[in-house]
Amino acid sequence: TNINQIDFKKSLSGEEIAFLIGCSGANSKALREMAGQKAIELRGSKVWFRGLIEFSNVCIKDCFYCGIRKSNTKVPRYNLDDEAIIQAARYAFENRYGSVVLQSGERIDNKFIDRIDQLIKKIKEISDNKIGITLSLGEQTKETYQKWFNSGAHRYLLRIETTSKELYQKLHPVNKLHSFERRLEALKALKEIGYQTGSGVMVGLPSQTISDLANDLLFLKEFDIDMVGMGPYIEHEDTPLAKSSQSAYTQEERLHMTLNMIATLRLMMPDINIAASTALQAIDPMGREKAIKCGANIIMPNITPATERKNYQLYNNKPCIDESADDCLSCLQMRIAFTGRETGLGEWGDSLHFFKKQ
Ligand code: SAM
Ligand code: SF4
Repeated sequence: TNINQIDFKKSLSGEEIAFLIGCSGANSKALREMAGQKAIELRGSKVWFRGLIEFSNVCIKDCFYCGIRKSNTKVPRYNLDDEAIIQAARYAFENRYGSVVLQSGERIDNKFIDRIDQLIKKIKEISDNKIGITLSLGEQTKETYQKWFNSGAHRYLLRIETTSKELYQKLHPVNKLHSFERRLEALKALKEIGYQTGSGVMVGLPSQTISDLANDLLFLKEFDIDMVGMGPYIEHEDTPLAKSSQSAYTQEERLHMTLNMIATLRLMMPDINIAASTALQAIDPMGREKAIKCGANIIMPNITPATERKNYQLYNNKPCIDESADDCLSCLQMRIAFTGRETGLGEWGDSLHFFKKQ
């Protein structure tokens, strides 16, 4: 097959998507160029920032791939106090980041739920309602999602991780807290409430096939998702997954496939927001810039206070853990300029797709 034989005006079939994810050489180059142009055509040349605040690594779950899983006793647990979180949000506001993402391990106790609720209100207050708030706090009940939405959060990131139910079960302990159905229900609830809903997958997991990855992209399209974050799976040495199984793909191959997936998805869903995930940078120092060239339009600079960054290691070699937030901002602006794009500072940069559906 050759990329010229594919009609991009029609819906792509599973086989065509699989071909695009796996393609290399001139085919991959053409795919990525087409996707990079498509992104600019529809959204202009801007790349928007989301200041990422990883405020706690305390988690009740035990996902086999994740370095901060509950059973990893080697990680010192932390939970930033409200003042430190507000301080980070203030930094984002003053530096015109437009939005912040509150991310942490999963917790479902009432104390946590109320705390987040108060934090959302407070961040809105200190930014005169100007900062957009994205949450990435795992699976919660619909009531909880609604409560946070009412307080001012308007986007939510919840990766489905993989749409192969069989693989999902291999990646998680088998119990109610880790069920594929529960995750899917949570995504549906977010959409029903009216969040701009984001999802995504890990690329290159042990026993994951290209056909699984093609199904993942078809799922994102069918689910009519507004935002996507996809990144390579990266081993963490203290996890059961890294100890027990190997990916069929080298890290280079995972990077290559992720970039092809971003490009393919950009052509399938031209008006959604696609993030250049941090995990790309762990494999290739220019990984995120490459993703922007392939059609990504969102970057999530880490604004977590540097003292705690080392304890939010989801995988080996996580980048930027020694930097302060300031280093990250100037370094990113330079990196974005290098890709020939502008930074959308001071704007929310919402998913156009979300508004078209309204
Ligand atoms: N606890 C929340 C959740 O799971 O949705 C939010 C935080 S969790 C650390 C964010 C994402 O990190 C997950 O959705 C997963 O895709 C990613 N992640 C975890 N371990 C990873 C690994 N070893 N390699 C790449 N990504 C990983
Ligand atoms: Fe917890 Fe999220 Fe890591 Fe799973 S991926 S162990 S829910 S932090």
